[in-house]
Amino acid sequence: MRIVLMGPPGAGKGTQARRLSESTGMKHLSTGDMLRAEVASGSELGLLAKEFMDRGDLVPDSNIIAMIQQHIDHPAGILLDGFPRTVVQAKALDEALEQTTTPVDQVIHMSVDIDELVKRLSNRALCGDCQTPYSLESDPPSQPGICDNCGGSVAVRVDDRPEAVTHRMKVYQDLTAPVLDYYKSHGDVVEIVATGSPDEVFEKLSQTIKSGMPGVNAN
Ligand code: ADP
Ligand code: ZN
Repeated sequence: MRIVLMGPPGAGKGTQARRLSESTGMKHLSTGDMLRAEVASGSELGLLAKEFMDRGDLVPDSNIIAMIQQHIDHPAGILLDGFPRTVVQAKALDEALEQTTTPVDQVIHMSVDIDELVKRLSNRALCGDCQTPYSLESDPPSQPGICDNCGGSVAVRVDDRPEAVTHRMKVYQDLTAPVLDYYKSHGDVVEIVATGSPDEVFEKLSQTIKSGMPGVNAN
């Protein structure tokens, strides 16, 4: 089973994918997390990626495709978060999956209006070690700046600063929205309105995924 979670920056893909991965056993694959880990380790890819990420630009397709290639298979299924983000990436994924047993099974689009997104991002902070997300307003770490989960340090991402956020929204419109059209032209895209509390959104997503599992009738 392979599920692609799509949605603009701040839609809550990472938060939800992490919870869904715990509840279903599927593997959570986040290209954003993978890239931040590369940056933190100071690898060659990390050094290259950092410049793009800090500006709010996409990392080149060739680097992303090479990075994700060996991870797209897992016995319990995978939840893709933040990939594919361009039509070139979506086509590369389809090609890579032709050699395996199952294609993309479900594409879920989490939609949130733009004002809400900008508000969420300016409030968002992240653990640099384990990537746990926090909302500084509604769900801050219990000790300021320290991760509840691992004790790592929690900070606002460089690309969540207002200048970069506006740019990321534009990049999403220009390069990632066409991926939704690509998937719509091949089959269904399930729309989920992702305003509301994280718990409400999690419920909706769980139902959607359950109905898409083999042997379960969707209704
Ligand atoms: P968000 O969904 O909030 O934008 P992510 O953590 O998914 O955050 O991504 C952060 C940054 O990492 C992106 O702005 C981009 O620079 C880079 N990135 C992540 N995934 C991809 C991808 N599939 N292709 C290109 N760049 C990516
Ligand atoms: Zn942590």
